[in-house]
Amino acid sequence: MARNDSIVKMRELLVKRRDALRRALAGDLSLLKSLNEQTGGDVGDAALDAAQDEISSKLAEVESRELANIEVALERMRSGSYGLCEICNCKIPLARLNALPYATSCIECQRAMESSGGGSGYAGDWSRVLDGGADVDVSFSDLEAG
Ligand SMILES: [Zn+2]
Repeated sequence: MARNDSIVKMRELLVKRRDALRRALAGDLSLLKSLNEQTGGDVGDAALDAAQDEISSKLAEVESRELANIEVALERMRSGSYGLCEICNCKIPLARLNALPYATSCIECQRAMESSGGGSGYAGDWSRVLDGGADVDVSFSDLEAG
């Protein structure tokens, strides 16, 4: 029950963030900024800092990638598969979802994927994204196939 409540709240945040990102991509960062102030900026801090520095094409790329991640997460919420690991089907701990709302696998499976070398490279890790990690590449066919 608490878990469902958390997911409902997260969904609201994601919807707001999706709208903010859409506007940001259209060149309007005001909503994104106010949203980050409201939520304490725990999700998108780093991105916001970068946004304040400059609106670069790279940022737009990150934003559109996040936007796509949000769409996937919202779709999974609609279908009821949100928060379930795509690989072992366990419930992804809320702490992980809070830190990484777009996670589609649990930590164990993600690690296993990474260590097997063939990892899809999926990561919502902001520091990595913004550090210039061109290695972050979301494969949506993989996400949808689950
Ligand atoms: Zn798993």
